[in-house]
Amino acid sequence: MRQVMNIFLNIGRNPLHFLRSPVDIYVSIAKKKSVHTNHCLYQIPQKMGISLQDLVKRLQCLAPLNLAESWDNVGLLVEPHSDKTIDSVLLTIDLTEDVVNEAINVGAQLIISYHPNIFKPLKSVTQSAWKERIIIQCIKNGIAIFSPHTTWDAMENGVNDWLASVFEPATTKPILPNTENSNVGMGRYVTLNPGSSLKKLIKDIKTKIGVSFLRIGLGKGKNFDDTIQTVAVCAGSGASVLNGVKADLYLTGEMLHHDVLDATQNGISVILCNHSDSERGFLKTVKNILSDQVLTVSVSSVDKDCLTTV
Ligand SMILES: [Zn+2]
Repeated sequence: MRQVMNIFLNIGRNPLHFLRSPVDIYVSIAKKKSVHTNHCLYQIPQKMGISLQDLVKRLQCLAPLNLAESWDNVGLLVEPHSDKTIDSVLLTIDLTEDVVNEAINVGAQLIISYHPNIFKPLKSVTQSAWKERIIIQCIKNGIAIFSPHTTWDAMENGVNDWLASVFEPATTKPILPNTENSNVGMGRYVTLNPGSSLKKLIKDIKTKIGVSFLRIGLGKGKNFDDTIQTVAVCAGSGASVLNGVKADLYLTGEMLHHDVLDATQNGISVILCNHSDSERGFLKTVKNILSDQVLTVSVSSVDKDCLTTV
């Protein structure tokens, strides 16, 4: 009981400490469950898992929900059970029916879908629309859904810091800092030290994101050998954060034609790498943060950007 109490006492102090506290319990139970047979002197038990409520608290320690943009819809979106133990989590950027089937196949009890699968208010939950069928399938199979979306964009070492980390060595700060904590906020303004040619940065971005093609709008009067000193970065759809920011280069997932035209006519080069490809790589970081002896965390193998270059 003392160990269980310690878990709760650690909430809000150190999410990683809280994350690892159940290990002691796991180890002690593993020892109690050990059996002696002719073939195996020490039987490894199945993972204990943790309650959905505790896992949600852990996710909120990692990225508080009040970091979300006001228009967003984040947090626990589907809760089939209130008392189910979770030992397997599937991470995805978009929640499609293929991803739900994958979650069923791997035995996940929670899907963390970066983009919220419920955004506009639902008027029905029927079999006639794919987003509604997803909710039905998840509830039927006891799978909860949590969406962090812009809380992960804003958090320190979140999606935008992951994307901005392609530019190193550099100093990085939020473009639109949070009023209470200037280390978190939307977008990242990167000052490279030293600067680097656009040609080299294109190569680095492809490697970091794991894509073969990027779209680039060259700033007026600029060329690929020019030195880039400053970059404004925004994962996903960046125009609302990037428009009007003075930088040598914009890096984002997608922008409308007229926003790209405006930037390039002002001498700013723009690199677009597909909306979700600018976000997906961060899931590996989350997998490493959440995985431990009580929780198996995997990244979806079927989740991918819906656009491809041919
Ligand atoms: Zn997005």
